[in-house]
Amino acid sequence: MLEGREVYTTCSIGVVLGSRDYTQAAHLLRNADIAMYRAKNQGKARYEIFGAEMHTQALRRLHLENDLRRAIEHQEFILHYQPIVMLDTGNLVGFEALIRWQQPTQGLKYPGDFISVAEETGLITPLDYWGLWTACHQIVAWQTDFPEYANLKISVNLSAQDLRQSDLLAEVDRILSDTRLPGRYLSLEITESMLIEDIEFTIDLLRQLQEREIQISIDDFGTGYSSLNYLHRLPVDYLKVDRSFVQQIQEDTRKHQIVETIAALSQQLELDAIAEGIETPQQLERLRALGYQLGQGYLFSQALSREAVEMGLKHREWAIEEQ
Ligand code: C2E
Ligand code: CA
Ligand code: CA
Ligand code: CA
Repeated sequence: MLEGREVYTTCSIGVVLGSRDYTQAAHLLRNADIAMYRAKNQGKARYEIFGAEMHTQALRRLHLENDLRRAIEHQEFILHYQPIVMLDTGNLVGFEALIRWQQPTQGLKYPGDFISVAEETGLITPLDYWGLWTACHQIVAWQTDFPEYANLKISVNLSAQDLRQSDLLAEVDRILSDTRLPGRYLSLEITESMLIEDIEFTIDLLRQLQEREIQISIDDFGTGYSSLNYLHRLPVDYLKVDRSFVQQIQEDTRKHQIVETIAALSQQLELDAIAEGIETPQQLERLRALGYQLGQGYLFSQALSREAVEMGLKHREWAIEEQ
């Protein structure tokens, strides 16, 4: 019992077998520790027995962490931009900024290869602050250089750790004033699990962001465990339906039902729903029929380099959505 509340705990255990193979207690403990972290990674409240391959993996992570630190110093990151469009007209509304790492020896790396290590090591926040600054700066440059596109919006992904930084709001304010981007052109994408971690704190933070006219999207919606109880209390603007639902909308009737339910839910809550990962005209048709207005996916465009976006804007490849 903690402060009158019942708290349940579980434990994760790392086991080392064959203690005779060790001459130093520290090595044995280190390996037990590695196995314990594996147990946590595999879902917690379980045990794992240490195996040699875990050591190799731990080493690989360590190298990656060092590489990431170096990469931040050497500014090896770039953003790509995926168009977000109106589904009925295909008109461009804005872009989602997606980070890539130009690894000097291994080439372009995607977030799946490094975001989780960045999150575990706390490197994600400097990375995301950089991403936020770069994306805001970029959208202002495009709005200015291509006056027809003066309404373009930008959407930026944040991680759970970013929300817990005491300087997040100050950083956002600094970036908006540095880049002179009005808050209404910026959306922040946050996954649902991180929103409900500390609900009162989150509500307060989101309110303050919205006071700056920044929009909030719940990313990967449908994959987390957010209770509907919380959802109506959260000051958010968009629900982004995870692409795993969109992509099986045809084959899997249950996924179709989820996509349909999210559409109804967003209407009830007066939020806009954004469908991600649209790859086929059939998926597009279904989504439109269900009332989805906004979307993104390979059917329209993959994430583009800065240069590719500029070519598109220059040649007026996209009609802009008037607002
Ligand atoms: P996300 O926010 O769900 O972003 C959408 C991902 O789906 C992107 O992958 C995008 O390239 C991909 N995608 C878009 N359309 C399609 C499609 O039609 N089909 C398929 N199969 N995929 C599509 P990406 O760029 O690899 O990013 C993966 C995840 O990494 C993102 O998922 C986001 O959660 C995270 N991420 C990306 N950039 C950042 C960042 O700057 N900061 C943080 N914290 N996370 C980021
Ligand atoms: Ca996103
Ligand atoms: Ca997503
Ligand atoms: Ca995501």
